[in-house]
Amino acid sequence: MAGLKLLDERRRQVFEKGSEPADFEIACGKPSLSGAVSQRACVFCGSRVVLYPIADALHIVHGPVGCAAYTWDIRGSRSSGPELHRMSFTTDLRETDVIYGGEKKLEAALRQLIARHNPKAAFVYGTCVVGVIGDDVDAVCNKMSKETGIPVIAVHSEGFKGTKKDGYKAACDALWRIVDSGEVTGEEDGLGPDSSRGVRGGRRASSASGRSPSSELGKRPYSINILGEFNIAGEAWILKEYFRKMGVEVVSTFTGDGRIDEIRNARTASLNLVQCSGSITSLAKRMESEYGIPFIRVSFFGIEDVSKALYAVADAFKDNKDIMARTRALVSEELAALLPQLEKYRKDLTGKKAAIYVGGAFKAFSLIVALRHIGMSVVLAGSQTGNKDDYETLKEICDDGAVIVDDTNPVELCKYMLEKKVDLLIGGVKERPLAYKLGVAFCDHNHERKIPLAGFEGMVAFAKEVHASVMSPIWKFAPRMASEVKA
Ligand code: SF4
Repeated sequence: MAGLKLLDERRRQVFEKGSEPADFEIACGKPSLSGAVSQRACVFCGSRVVLYPIADALHIVHGPVGCAAYTWDIRGSRSSGPELHRMSFTTDLRETDVIYGGEKKLEAALRQLIARHNPKAAFVYGTCVVGVIGDDVDAVCNKMSKETGIPVIAVHSEGFKGTKKDGYKAACDALWRIVDSGEVTGEEDGLGPDSSRGVRGGRRASSASGRSPSSELGKRPYSINILGEFNIAGEAWILKEYFRKMGVEVVSTFTGDGRIDEIRNARTASLNLVQCSGSITSLAKRMESEYGIPFIRVSFFGIEDVSKALYAVADAFKDNKDIMARTRALVSEELAALLPQLEKYRKDLTGKKAAIYVGGAFKAFSLIVALRHIGMSVVLAGSQTGNKDDYETLKEICDDGAVIVDDTNPVELCKYMLEKKVDLLIGGVKERPLAYKLGVAFCDHNHERKIPLAGFEGMVAFAKEVHASVMSPIWKFAPRMASEVKA
């Protein structure tokens, strides 16, 4: 694989710290280069991964069966109740539908599925075919919404119309329709103070326009929504437990273990936490401007960032000194248990090198810090959807010699993994085979993972996972290491 080269058109999306002028601006946020075989998913997939964890909604893919199969059960998002989200419904559009239109098929599918599954809402995802044949999905959704009495929402996510980020935007628009739908549920809906799903003392508040100014909403004091938290392997439950100990109420999570009624109640919260910022910041900004709910960006990966996130919440509620005191106690108790456990992994991992390729750059920041904690350095960092600010931050926090990539592809990943002699790749399902084929250890930090990596206990699980893979004896039989042994 020697001599792997960058495509000229990709040159400005790659930065090597120390080899480029410091003011080099990484090109980002643009459509993937044709022929470069981007690791990015399509617009439809972007919207699907954000909305998918809402467990009591019907998710129907209006398009060919392949779009639905490709995203079936796409996240390891767990639910504490219904599991309707794990079904992958589709209108299975075929040639005759392309010629005569798919609206009737969509209407019939919605009628049948809503009657059968009794969901709280339905999301209808538009795919490439639907964009091309021009079905009026909004009209069908409006008709079915009136007929069934539940929100039936068109998600405009035709795969070809932009990047994965446009899919996030389409998902946020769909979520906004629920948030802003005018009705707040409360104790009379069985979501009272004792509800483990966390909605306390709600009251109905709606105006003729369906929008309720924040002053009418009966804001819950010391309450938050966690946006961009998808409850992968139960991570949202870990975070909720921290906030319970701190005395902070979690009104809703977007969208992990999500429920339509909780999402409706989201505008009664006092603060929004934005974790997966690339996917959901547009919704947070809208809630801030329409309902006056401020937001802060947080990350729950790695010791520093988890602690920082919890303290940031306590600080936002600083009129309540008990919250800060409880937060301090929580963090020191967790650290006392955690640090000795990390030490044994750090001994073996010190000096090893890692490559990171993730969806949103914000996660990469946390991973760089977390890896330093266990003695590892990052020599390659990249993301599918980072913006200019994200890449500036990456340039600052990476060490000299590190390569930073936007919207990369398998050839570039392999090139730099070999050149930098990495011991570990952190990525998702599309990156895993690249690592294994090169004889490099791998840690899944994407949405398919089955192990919770958020929070303090997540840091221990992360270190354990990295250690098990990096230190595995299997790599001495793999191609790259085998050739090094021979040499
Ligand atoms: S929406 Fe388009 S690009 Fe996305 S999976 Fe379907 S056909 Fe492929």
